[in-house]
Amino acid sequence: MFIFYNYSFATHKCTVGIFYVTCKGKQFSPNDSYFIVRIVITFALFMTKTAGRIINDPVIGEVLLKKSTRARRISIRVHPVKGVAVSVPHIVPYMAAEAFFKLKRQWIIDTMARQKEKFKDVQQPAKETIEQLRKEAKAYLPGRLADLAERYGFTYNKVTIKHNSTNWGSCSVRNNINLNLNIMRLSRVLQDYILLHELCHLRHHDHGHAFHLLLEHVLTDNLVRLIDAGDEEALSLARKVAVSKAKYPADHVITKVLRQYRLI
Ligand SMILES: [Zn+2]
Repeated sequence: MFIFYNYSFATHKCTVGIFYVTCKGKQFSPNDSYFIVRIVITFALFMTKTAGRIINDPVIGEVLLKKSTRARRISIRVHPVKGVAVSVPHIVPYMAAEAFFKLKRQWIIDTMARQKEKFKDVQQPAKETIEQLRKEAKAYLPGRLADLAERYGFTYNKVTIKHNSTNWGSCSVRNNINLNLNIMRLSRVLQDYILLHELCHLRHHDHGHAFHLLLEHVLTDNLVRLIDAGDEEALSLARKVAVSKAKYPADHVITKVLRQYRLI
């Protein structure tokens, strides 16, 4: 396939440049050519974003060096299941990432050993357990999220039920909310905490003061409603919130309970 770039002001009223794509003697129209070039560029950008390099370390195993558009500095992730990955900002060469990896190699080995020790008696959950949780999550969470959003005046794009080992939930800049199916293992107060936390991110995409003020407001209101509905855990937590000296008492008290749970 040949791509001709034809610069012309006269032949097309919308664009200053016209791309003609010719394939096996057939010349595509300017409109089709434009879309073909766009697809090629998008694919090339996608490849540069997702492509990475792999280092094979005799002790650590495969280490993925990955360019990231969001990374501001080189960082290393050591994950018990996903393995080791080094994120590199786009403009930084892979060589620098390799040098950084060599510098931190011992730290990675120590971290992997610690993780092995920590997870040695964690059983992999049965597939059926996960599927059951997924079914329950799909049946319950979207509705509950919609109710809470309506009550506190939040609007989001869509909600997706996920199964990952890194977070209970997340909220994207496009206002899409992801919820982990593990939420179904939690009590009502903790479930609502995660949902409300993500809903507050619709207004503040960070964990700043404004985010926390909003979260405290909705958490306390929700606690009162749960108490009214006869939720005993909500009552016991509300008592702790009332005497807590923490800067954000409701968040502090509830996350302390949440930290006792691990994602499976
Ligand atoms: Zn958050």
